[in-house]
Amino acid sequence: MNTKIMGQKELQKEVMEAHFCTGCGACINLCPYQAYYRDQVVMLHPCDLKEGGCYAFCPRTPTDLEALKKRLFDPKDLTPELGAVKGFYITRAADPGVRAGAQHGGTVTTLITLALQEGIIDTAVLTEEGRDLLPRETAVQDPASVKKRGRSKFVVSPNVAEFNRIAKEGGKKIGIVATPCQALAMAKMRMKPLKNYAERIDQLKLVIGIFCGWALSWRSLVEVLRKKIDLSEIEGMDIPPSKYHVLHLYTKKGILQISLDEVAASVRGACWYCPDLTAEFSDLSVGSARLPEGWEEAKGWNQVIVRTPLGQKLLNLAKEKGLLEFRQVPEGNLPKLKTASLGKKRTAVKNLKLRSRDSKNLFYLDPEDPVLGVIAAGL
Ligand SMILES: Cc1cc2nc3c(=O)[nH]c(=O)nc-3n(C[C@H](O)[C@H](O)[C@H](O)COP(=O)(O)OP(=O)(O)OC[C@H]3O[C@@H](n4cnc5c(N)ncnc54)[C@H](O)[C@@H]3O)c2cc1C
Ligand code: SF4
Ligand code: SF4
Repeated sequence: MNTKIMGQKELQKEVMEAHFCTGCGACINLCPYQAYYRDQVVMLHPCDLKEGGCYAFCPRTPTDLEALKKRLFDPKDLTPELGAVKGFYITRAADPGVRAGAQHGGTVTTLITLALQEGIIDTAVLTEEGRDLLPRETAVQDPASVKKRGRSKFVVSPNVAEFNRIAKEGGKKIGIVATPCQALAMAKMRMKPLKNYAERIDQLKLVIGIFCGWALSWRSLVEVLRKKIDLSEIEGMDIPPSKYHVLHLYTKKGILQISLDEVAASVRGACWYCPDLTAEFSDLSVGSARLPEGWEEAKGWNQVIVRTPLGQKLLNLAKEKGLLEFRQVPEGNLPKLKTASLGKKRTAVKNLKLRSRDSKNLFYLDPEDPVLGVIAAGL
């Protein structure tokens, strides 16, 4: 696979026009020529640089994922299904106040707050609710303000654009909450492929990944929901395990269930080609839990994959300080997560093969990759 760095023109053709853009924000705030507007990247001016950060950091330009994993993680932790796994846990915030404002167990909020309190980071890039369900990327310094940014927004938030904006100022220790595509963009930056951006990425001190099955396209989602409810009544959303096949809307009047058949057409196109469920390029990754008691209990807990020594240190510290509660991981949880993760890789590879009609052309994925290549060969 040709991983040569190119410029904006090629990014436009290979990623944006091909509808592979995930909206991660990695190509924004590097230069004045691109901006993010209402869930879309907008090209403001053409750029004739032959090699640009926009192309180099984009998670949808060709990447040698295997080389990246070997550089960033302990090779003995690497698994084909989930990337690096140092440890696997079920946790939740000990503070009921944190849990009440969180999506599931509040593990992400707890860990980011602790990282700020301990000085591991001094700035956290998070997501907050904007108008009409359009999320906003934001940077916070005050540990007490993290819990006001809890809960998942199922429309993409260009968090990497906010990283680029604040890293330009220099002298920071930045942590970021990232979807899998955003965590990959950060990993590509960490390789320092371009000299002009090398110093900025040294300010990245922590990546907390969140699991991500898919995100929703803002315009299409709003169109579907407006027919059912006044958007100002929506307080949150969730997607229970796939057997329920529903989207839950948390409203002032209770939970409104919408069949996934109704929202399937609103899934962001790029997500059908995404091979990462668990944010493999993070220090630790957090998702919803699966428990024998069922979803009502499980939705108050998280599954956590620790991937790096820093991720382990942070989780241990949260345990020592009594900030996170742990419960035994039910037998079978890790194999089930591996199966789900492989399922997402298989779907991505299958859809890319259908697009190219050539098993040797997986666009930005490497047909020789030891995991994805084997999947491609078996399809
Ligand atoms: C689009 C999307 C799809 C998801 N799909 C799955 C899935 O299929 N399976 C699964 O197990 N989990 C999925 N999750 C993760 C899950 O919803 C929770 O984020 C995770 O379980 C952590 O819960 P928590 O209680 O610790 O989070 P909280 O403590 O509430 O913290 C959530 C954090 O996520 C940040 N955040 C919110 N929205 C976004 C966003 N759009 N982009 C980046 N950061 C954001 C917030 O700033 C906050 O820091 C998804 C999340 C998103 C945003
Ligand atoms: S995927 Fe990210 S970096 Fe690539 S074009 Fe889209 S927003 Fe820019
Ligand atoms: S499914 Fe993949 S491409 Fe879509 S938002 Fe999640 S991580 Fe990004």
